[in-house]
Amino acid sequence: MLIDTAEFICSSPNFKTCPNSEGPEFAFIGRSNVGKSSLINFLLNRKNLAKVSQNPGKTRMVNHFHVNNKWFLVDLPGYGYAKLPLRERERLETLIYQYLSKRKNLEHTFMLIDSRLNPQPADIRFMTWMVSHQNSFSILFTKSDKLTKNRLAQNLHHYKQVLMEFNFYPDQVIPVSVITRTGKDEILKTIESVLNSRS
Ligand code: GDP
Repeated sequence: MLIDTAEFICSSPNFKTCPNSEGPEFAFIGRSNVGKSSLINFLLNRKNLAKVSQNPGKTRMVNHFHVNNKWFLVDLPGYGYAKLPLRERERLETLIYQYLSKRKNLEHTFMLIDSRLNPQPADIRFMTWMVSHQNSFSILFTKSDKLTKNRLAQNLHHYKQVLMEFNFYPDQVIPVSVITRTGKDEILKTIESVLNSRS
């Protein structure tokens, strides 16, 4: 799939104010600072469409982008950011889980994981929730340029082993990097195949 057009639609502070559209949606989610905004800009061929944050925890709204006038990329708030006040963290979790469980036109979720880190409790909690709600999701292993090929393969293998222990079988695990421009084709192919399976 080629990206012809990508248009920012709106930022919504809560579930009720999200746009009233029925177009197919693909959500991107991960812990703060995982590289989500950078990846969205890379995917959509734009420098600054999703603001690359200097401060972790900045994305606190649901951002909708309309792509190729056909589908929506949904940038969900980061989760598991310990430095936010408890109330704000709870608000964000409610927003995220409401979105993932109630949004009827959500087709698939891409969960971003920093490829350098061991599985983190917040990620495992999130995946447990996704599996128990039968949400289809893929894992994107971000910042893969920061590791050697061997180290990346080891970390991927380790991550998959841990997921299997929890009975998680994500649709796929894709290494990505905005520096080496890796992973874009696989992500767009996944989106395309979901779109094709609907029509
Ligand atoms: P977000 O908080 O998840 O939206 O993360 P950002 O996109 O703002 O990125 C957080 C930091 O990681 C920034 O300093 C980015 O420049 C850096 N970053 C993002 N993606 C990559 C990547 O693929 N490789 C490297 N080396 N750094 C990255």
